[in-house]
Amino acid sequence: MRRMNSEGIERSKLVDALRDGRLVSLARRRDMCLLCRGNPVTDAGLCEGCLANLTDDEIHVATPWIEGVRP
Ligand SMILES: [Zn+2]
Repeated sequence: MRRMNSEGIERSKLVDALRDGRLVSLARRRDMCLLCRGNPVTDAGLCEGCLANLTDDEIHVATPWIEGVRP
């Protein structure tokens, strides 16, 4: 399953969103997961469920958020 839900951003845009950061900040402020709009979200703007299903590329760009390197 590539997309969890039609309401979040497209899965193919997730890496760009994590690099860009604006959508991550928004997702954290709203406490809505970038992909599925679920909550609570982690510091990467994704819920635990989506975070557990990331590809290697996605994990690579999400890790700085999770580790608190990004603001
Ligand atoms: Zn999610």
